[in-house]
Amino acid sequence: MQQAGIKFKDFKRVVFFTGAGLSVESGIPTYRGQGGVWNEYRWEDYACERAFRRDPEGVWDFHEKQRAAAAACEPNEGHSIIAELQRLRPDTAVITQNIDGLLQRAGCTQVTELHGSLWRLRCPRDREVHEDFSIPLASRKCDCGAYWRPDIVWFEDPLDNNALDAASDALSSCDLLVSIGTSGAVYPAADLPRIAMAGGATSVEVNPDETMVSHLYDVTLRGPASKMLRQMFE
Ligand code: NAD
Repeated sequence: MQQAGIKFKDFKRVVFFTGAGLSVESGIPTYRGQGGVWNEYRWEDYACERAFRRDPEGVWDFHEKQRAAAAACEPNEGHSIIAELQRLRPDTAVITQNIDGLLQRAGCTQVTELHGSLWRLRCPRDREVHEDFSIPLASRKCDCGAYWRPDIVWFEDPLDNNALDAASDALSSCDLLVSIGTSGAVYPAADLPRIAMAGGATSVEVNPDETMVSHLYDVTLRGPASKMLRQMFE
């Protein structure tokens, strides 16, 4: 169903479920489409634990490029509308598959990051995790001597259980689910919206193109995230 009449103000609790498409208007390409990272790089060489063990310097060269590219971009109106709704209604939940940190830079205070963040480092040896925004990295190694690892869910990694629990809680208690800019191709994240649907929430997909999960949604809004969010915010 196409419907322009969905407004945030008509719902009690809104959950946003966002993917790479939300950041396209900021200039960050999706991974798979035109200009996508995986057309240029093999994930097997740069985005999995096996690659990191084999060649940590190469993996860091790749991630430093991603950090620099994300840092050079600004949040767009879509990020800002989500942040503004969360400011006005603090029970608005934001679940993202994005690792770029743009929602937080737009002012979101509570974001469940299912796939981690480019801006957090984790020591595989002593498990320390901290934020780091330096470009280039001040050091690629922890004081213990081990290479920092980007705190990102790479290919073949499991999702973090705390993030999954937080996402499930939010999705099971919302009455409006707005999925934005996600192809629904990356599992297990792609299954999460079904929790809100099963709970009876109205579900809206925002995407300029049809996706393999479009048929699951009550409402599909075909257009860029910023424009569609602006309409819902009015
Ligand atoms: P995806 O690349 O599989 O799908 C992106 C979707 O966004 C597509 O369906 C596309 O039609 C849609 N889209 C394109 N422009 C849009 C716009 N202006 N407004 C709304 N939608 C638009 O992305 P995914 O489902 O998030 O899965 C890819 C995986 O790669 C995720 O794990 C994600 O974390 C990661 N990723 C993250 C970033 C980022 O942090 N910005 C960028 C690329 C990939």
